[in-house]
Amino acid sequence: MINNPSVLHAVEIANSIVPNEDLPDPYKLCAELQIDLVTNKSLKKDGYLVCCNGNKMIFVSATITNKSRKKFVISHEIGHFFMHGESLYGCTNVSDISNITINSSRQEHEANLFASEFLLPSLSVKNILPNRDLCIDDIKMIAHIFKMSFTSCAIKAVALSNTEEETVLYYEGRILKWYASAIRGLKKVFVPNRCPINLMAQQPVCCCTGVWESMYTGTVRQEIINIYGNQWLVLLSGTPKYHY
Ligand SMILES: [Zn+2]
Repeated sequence: MINNPSVLHAVEIANSIVPNEDLPDPYKLCAELQIDLVTNKSLKKDGYLVCCNGNKMIFVSATITNKSRKKFVISHEIGHFFMHGESLYGCTNVSDISNITINSSRQEHEANLFASEFLLPSLSVKNILPNRDLCIDDIKMIAHIFKMSFTSCAIKAVALSNTEEETVLYYEGRILKWYASAIRGLKKVFVPNRCPINLMAQQPVCCCTGVWESMYTGTVRQEIINIYGNQWLVLLSGTPKYHY
């Protein structure tokens, strides 16, 4: 759960402006806040927030065509509008992945947290999580319900897991790009940088022993999904090793 007071306060304001919606809608929020939205220009950065002479504008680069990513960038800029007093923001690497891979500034971090919490409310997600280890189908269901990307939903679901035993790892080829884990205190040094299995030769779901032993003891349930090309997401669950 998010415990940053300014992010929680901003989400509360957002929800009070567009209440009782089926899905959190950043387009509607922009309209209510009288923020003009421009999405048809290719920009150097993912998005901009410009507040000038009483006018408020959010620009999202036309190169961002994915619907859920576009919603994330708009929400990120709204986060700046609510929480940060500057009149101009230009934002790169806008995504919830950047919170776990890039050492971004406090304001960028908070804007990403706002977007993630506004679009995927922790309480609503928590309410539909099973009382067992997560599997890929659970994450697909969340992505379907909230109309958000599988990756965003995977990060959120693992963070809120009821069993606190899952890890999601993202490999490009065999190189680790990022991971998110429910295991408190799991340090990067224990997560294999080079994937210990040949992802292409694996069954989508299997139980294995001895492969992920720096993170888990005994048998691990391993589920693999090919995101695109050589990009792979691996979901693990089992008995965590704690490295406190
Ligand atoms: Zn930003």
